[in-house]
Amino acid sequence: MELKLRAITLRAVNYKDNDRILTLITPEKGKISVSAKGVRKANAKMKAVSEPFCLSDCVFYERLGRITLTEAEITDTFFPLRENISKYYAASVALELVNYFSQENMDGRRLFSALLSFLKDICYENKDEIDRLVSFFCEVLSDEGFGVDFSSCGRCGGEISGRVRFNIKDGFNVCDNCAREGDREYSYSTYSYLRRTANKDMATSDKKDGINGIKFFDYYLRGNVGIELKSIKFFTEKTT
Ligand SMILES: [Zn+2]
Repeated sequence: MELKLRAITLRAVNYKDNDRILTLITPEKGKISVSAKGVRKANAKMKAVSEPFCLSDCVFYERLGRITLTEAEITDTFFPLRENISKYYAASVALELVNYFSQENMDGRRLFSALLSFLKDICYENKDEIDRLVSFFCEVLSDEGFGVDFSSCGRCGGEISGRVRFNIKDGFNVCDNCAREGDREYSYSTYSYLRRTANKDMATSDKKDGINGIKFFDYYLRGNVGIELKSIKFFTEKTT
C-alpha cells in the first residue's frame, strides 16, 4: 500500500551500511518509523530527508506493518539552524519533546504544526530561540495534559507575589504563605517571565530568566513527567 504524507524528520539512526531508520512526525498518522534505504551514499537523492528538521512530502510503501520511504520531495531543510549552534540545540530540544509526546497512528496535527511554526520562527523570523523554546514548552505541555499553572498558588488558589516555590510531585507553584517542606524556591523574576509566556504574552526575557525557564522545564519534565531530554544539557551549556 502506498502512503503520501507531509513529514518532519525527528530522528535518524544509521542502519546497515547505507541505510537509516527515520522517525517522522506527520499530521495524519502521528509518529511513524520508516526505513530509508541508501540515504547515506554520497549522492543519495533522499539524503536531506534523513537529517533532523527536514520538512518534506514523502511517499511510503507499507507492507506487513513495515514502512519504507520511496520518494521525498524536500520543502525545507531549515539549513540556517545548522549555522547557529544555539538555535540548532534549541531546535533539537523541540524535536526531542515532540518525539516523546507523539504516538503512532494518532492525530499528529497539533504537534506537527506547533513544531513547524517553532522551526520557522527561530529559523526565519528572527525570534529569540530561548524565549520561543519556553513558549513551545508551555504550548506542547498544555496540549498534552502536562501544563503547569503559573497563574496562582496550587494550594490556596491565591496570587503568588514576592516569593515563589514549586512542588515537583504535585507539579504546581506555591505562594509564600502555603510553603511546606519539600517545595523548592526559585527566582520570582523567572516565575513572572514564565507566567507571562504561559499567557501567550510573548515575553522577552533577559537571558538569565530565559535560561532559568528552560532549566525549570528540564526539572519539571524529569521530576514530574518522568522524561529526560538529552539535548537540554547541550543547549544550556552552549548558551550560558
Ligand atoms: Zn497559597
